[in-house]
Formats: sequence, structure tokens, C-alpha cells
Amino acid sequence: MVTEKRATGTQTATGPLSILTCASCGKKNRIRAKDRGTPHCGTCGAALPWLVTATDDTFEAEARSSVAVLVDLWAPWCGPCRFVAPILEDLSREYAGRLKVVKVNVDENPRLAQALSAQSIPTMVVLRDGRVVDRIVGAMPKPDLAARLLPNLLNRSS
Ligand SMILES: [Zn+2]
Repeated sequence: MVTEKRATGTQTATGPLSILTCASCGKKNRIRAKDRGTPHCGTCGAALPWLVTATDDTFEAEARSSVAVLVDLWAPWCGPCRFVAPILEDLSREYAGRLKVVKVNVDENPRLAQALSAQSIPTMVVLRDGRVVDRIVGAMPKPDLAARLLPNLLNRSS
């Protein structure tokens, strides 16, 4: 049996790449994961909605962030996950510069699903500085989810 060698070397040097669409001018920006600061539109300078897709291989780099990270553990066959998806897109726009949404397909990334103890989906894990600060199991309406997230979106005083 041949073990596939994954080309992760270039990714650790530069970080995984995502295409983020500016909510202000519609420009598509190519943004790499970075652990300091937040992404801004190269054309108009607006804070970009930060919603990316991570895999078992890129998760560690994507989860390192100076703002709150909401990890959305989902699967295509899960109805409540489809309910939550547009809500998370809205929140990433409304809280641009304060929130990063990292989507993880649990079917394709079983290692991560296990590491984050996703026993049922949707499960949303909120991270600050790489530590789990909240865990939301099951779908909820947007106002409830926003209220639940808000305490973790505040800028730290120190
Ligand atoms: Zn823009």
C-alpha cells in the first residue's frame, strides 16, 4: 500500500488561500489565512466578510486568528445545516472585522469532526485564541445566534 505524501510544505509557508467577496463593492479578493489582523478589500478598503472552508489539513492555519472564530461543522445531507448556512453568511458580513467563520464538512474531514467532538450536526464551536469558548449544538434563528455570539465578538481590552 502506497502512502500518499501530501504537499503541505507550501501551505505552512503562506497559509491556505480563500476567495472573499467584498460586501461593499463586490470585488473578489484572494486572501490567505493569517493569525493577526483581518482582511480588507484591495479595491475599496472595506473589511471583508471572512468565511472560509477548512479541511483536516488547513484547519490549524485557518483557526489561528486574532478575532473570534466560529467553526461550522456541517454536512450536505443535514437540513438544519442548510438552515444555518445563510445565517452564518449574513453574520460574517454584519460582523466583518470581528468574526471569522470556518466551515468544515464533517463527511470529508472525519479527523476534525472527532477532534471537535461533533456528535451531532450542526455543531458550532466558537474559538478565541485557539481555545473553545462556546459550543452551540443545533440550529437556531439568526437573532438568537447573534445574541449568543456577541459577547465573544467584543474587542479585548488588553
Ligand atoms: Zn470592496
